[in-house]
Amino acid sequence: MTATPSITIVGAGLGGLTLARVLTRSGIHATLYDLDASPTARHQGGMLDIHEDSGQRALREAGLFEQFLPLIQPGGEELRILDKNATVRLAHEGGGGRPEVERGALRDLLLSSLPEGTVRWGSKVTAIRALGDGRHQLTLGNGDVVDTELLIGADGAWSKVRPLVSAAVPVYSGLSFIEAHLNEADTRHQASAALVGRGSMFALGAHKGMLAHRGGKGELHVYIALMKPADWAASLDVTDPAAIKAHLLKHFAGWDDSLLALISDADDHLVPRPIHALPVGHSWPRTPGVTLLGDAAHLMSPFAGEGANLAMLDGAELGRALVTHPGDVEAALAAYERELFPRSEKSAAESAANLIEFFKPDAPQGILDMMARYAAVG
Ligand SMILES: Cc1cc2nc3c(=O)[nH]c(=O)nc-3n(C[C@H](O)[C@H](O)[C@H](O)COP(=O)(O)OP(=O)(O)OC[C@H]3O[C@@H](n4cnc5c(N)ncnc54)[C@H](O)[C@@H]3O)c2cc1C
Repeated sequence: MTATPSITIVGAGLGGLTLARVLTRSGIHATLYDLDASPTARHQGGMLDIHEDSGQRALREAGLFEQFLPLIQPGGEELRILDKNATVRLAHEGGGGRPEVERGALRDLLLSSLPEGTVRWGSKVTAIRALGDGRHQLTLGNGDVVDTELLIGADGAWSKVRPLVSAAVPVYSGLSFIEAHLNEADTRHQASAALVGRGSMFALGAHKGMLAHRGGKGELHVYIALMKPADWAASLDVTDPAAIKAHLLKHFAGWDDSLLALISDADDHLVPRPIHALPVGHSWPRTPGVTLLGDAAHLMSPFAGEGANLAMLDGAELGRALVTHPGDVEAALAAYERELFPRSEKSAAESAANLIEFFKPDAPQGILDMMARYAAVG
């Protein structure tokens, strides 16, 4: 292998972009391929709280921490936990260590830090073939082929790269979200805006809940969460939002009207999101010329709030490992994976445990007890 191998990253999510940025800062070129037709092809979703020891660390490594600061949403760390009667059981102001930013703004920051043309949009990887000696050949949707000496799977939950190193597949967690939005909340939905506040609001009951947060443009994002069989989300007809809302309202019968309004007043674009996870402790044997990062490596439920943070940290750490092992890709990948596996196992275990706590029969008590335990250990 040459001293500077050709580097191909599949996936221009937060993880792949952070890796490309860290490499670029050290003069190492990588090419990213993403199936999206353009950076604006897909709505980037809601807010992310960026943790000091993972997401923020990655941004420092990427040399983008100062540019990140103006993106922080004032008050975004506020959290309220309610029960089904809309009684506030906990109100927390947040301590400044987990500032909230819009996912889209964070992605734009990373993207704009890369040289023009680094990301090849509209490039779906449809097949990958091992060529031996750690080299791989990728086939793209348009029939083009790309040979590479180092292949990184940053291609999310349903990674095309993962099968090269592991037989693991994501397993349904038992929980499905319906993502809903209430746009222009301050004028169109004032009571709901007041209920959610400046940050996040979790209303929890037995086996269900509503997880809402305020977005950067005054909109409310709501994940309506239900423990349901794996095929439930796919059975919903997204072209008939009124029917979905009526179905959801039945499930939440008996909940306070102020909470039900988050369903009935939602705009008509409802997105079902069944939640999957890879097995806790997912790892793979060192495989020449290829590795994974982010969801491709350790997809987990969002209940530790770590997925995007870890994807960025993985990208930064892998970039650093490659920079500090010039001419020895295998040593770099081994060093990266040695840290990656225990780090992601810890967060995946926390996510899986938190999912159970959130939706226990006596919810929100489990999550209140958990917050009290966190507060006790500082
Ligand atoms: C409902 C929900 C809420 C969440 N909330 C939070 C939160 O509050 N905090 C947090 O830290 N995390 C959260 N997460 C998790 C977070 O979204 C993910 O962990 C994070 O986006 C993973 O980043 P990534 O770069 O690994 O993958 P992704 O962001 O999934 O990016 C993968 C990229 O690969 C591309 N791609 C996929 N397949 C191919 C292919 N074959 N060819 C080419 N390109 C391909 C995709 O287009 C995509 O751009 C949440 C997740 C969900 C589902």
